Amino acid sequence: MRKYTEINLWKNVSPRDWNDWKWQLRNRITAVEQLKHVLDLSESEQKDVGLCLKRFRMAITPYYATLIDSANPHCPIKAQCVPSINELIQKPDEKADPLNEDLFSPVPGIVHRYPDRVLFLITYKCSMYCRHCTRRRMVGEEDFSVDKAGLDRALEYIRSNKSIRDVLLSGGDPFVMPDSYLEGIISRLRAIPHVEVIRIGTRTPVVLPMRITDGLLGMLRKYHPIWINTHFNHPDEITPYSLQACQKIVDAGIPLGNQSVLLKGINDNVDVQKELLLKLVKARVRPYYLYQCDPSQGIGHFRTPVKTGVDIIKHLRGYISGYAVPTFVIDAPGGGGKVPINPEYVINMDDEKVVMRNYKGDIYVYP
Ligand SMILES: *Cc1c(COP(=O)(O)O)cnc(C)c1O
Ligand code: SF4
Repeated sequence: MRKYTEINLWKNVSPRDWNDWKWQLRNRITAVEQLKHVLDLSESEQKDVGLCLKRFRMAITPYYATLIDSANPHCPIKAQCVPSINELIQKPDEKADPLNEDLFSPVPGIVHRYPDRVLFLITYKCSMYCRHCTRRRMVGEEDFSVDKAGLDRALEYIRSNKSIRDVLLSGGDPFVMPDSYLEGIISRLRAIPHVEVIRIGTRTPVVLPMRITDGLLGMLRKYHPIWINTHFNHPDEITPYSLQACQKIVDAGIPLGNQSVLLKGINDNVDVQKELLLKLVKARVRPYYLYQCDPSQGIGHFRTPVKTGVDIIKHLRGYISGYAVPTFVIDAPGGGGKVPINPEYVINMDDEKVVMRNYKGDIYVYP
């Protein structure tokens, strides 16, 4: 497999380097000067990107950059990775931490919102900085990974709370860390008897698919049950590279889910969603959640009305396999957790009967 769009900057890169995730990380685009080699940017666009970079950082893997369609000013790939001046607009209802994750954090790195599971943010680093990231308060601004002392405290918290049966490793992106670092955390979690399931949230299959190496998977499969959730937002992200990464994960016996964010101008219509979801199922990736865009600062230009998401689900449910339909959720501002938002199917329910609407809108009665 070779790269997609030819970009002069990487014309002479050997396939060996190209397929090496560490090469990809070392050669990420982080400055306007490099971006100019990849995209035709006007003077004013260059200035805008420069202004954004004063506030939020940029990182684009060479692989992901080759997916940009430079002829399309509204390219959904470009919109997810190239900064826009709109990021500097602050709307009154937006917050740096709208989900109060910091408030629900008993020890640094742990967010304990639900009774039986915790989110464990092990690093603020990502291979790419998604422009729509909800946690940009940390990932977009500083580098951090839990150190030995932090890790000890977090593990001690999990160990001493027997109600925690499910630990979700996230960040940042855990898979930017070396295998040995990950194994250090995962093996210690696995040694805690009440931790039944270890989940990992990572966008690397989408933005750095070469990270999914045999070595990584060989390590993970020692600690089953492991589940992984990834983050595809658009069908153009499904390429021979990302497909192979997904296939390898699933072949290692790891159930693979997908969490998307509903993004204006990127995937806020039924046709794009349908194409994405069907391709995911074909790749054995189970669509899990579709998120309403959070009220985080600097992502207002991506936000759609909630009704857009409800309408999309309405046009999917019943029309395509149930496996392909994600749950549309709003992560309740303030820290209420994820709330599923569904089209209304129950018209009336009492002790005698349920009056309901099917996917086509026809009315049925269940006695
Ligand atoms: C999303 C989330 C989880 C996991 O929720 P599930 O619905 O089980 O996938 C756990 N903790 C926090 C804080 C979360 O935001
Ligand atoms: S990979 Fe996830 S955490 Fe990292 S920038 Fe993208 S959305 Fe944010």
